[in-house]
Amino acid sequence: MFVTVTLTLNGCSDSSARRTQLKTDASSTPSRMQDASRVDADDYIHLSEQEWRTRLSPEQYRILREKGTERAFSGAYWNHKGQGVYRCAACRLVLFNSETKFKSGTGWPSFWKPAKDDSVQTKSDLSLGMRRTEALCHRCKSHLGHVFDDGPAPTGLRYCINSASLIFEDRE
Ligand SMILES: [Zn+2]
Repeated sequence: MFVTVTLTLNGCSDSSARRTQLKTDASSTPSRMQDASRVDADDYIHLSEQEWRTRLSPEQYRILREKGTERAFSGAYWNHKGQGVYRCAACRLVLFNSETKFKSGTGWPSFWKPAKDDSVQTKSDLSLGMRRTEALCHRCKSHLGHVFDDGPAPTGLRYCINSASLIFEDRE
């Protein structure tokens, strides 16, 4: 049995907040965020680009679905220091914890580890004449940013992520 849950996308913190509807299992907990995280992956994989356009702000769409990059030091989270979790701005999967965020000096939010080993998928990216590793949301395959091997211990990795690909949620 399915019910429809309405969520407000507020990652861009401007007046372009949009509403999106997700199917979720009626037996899950009352929390809207938890409900969203239980949505079947297929619900996202099978969304058309037109459907993504209606769910995301133009900036989110450009970055998440067209593999764009926001300007350094322009996003909401490069210097954000709150304690909590960073979710995928497209499907709300938890991607990173604030404990693994570090100051990289790059102007993009940087993390040395995803929330879980499989939260973030990686893929070889040879675009723009560079050999890079793309970071994608494990669930909805939206573009997040890139992973580099010049991060801090213990992983030595730097997940360089667009703010527009993330939505921060305070830990209560
Ligand atoms: Zn996602």
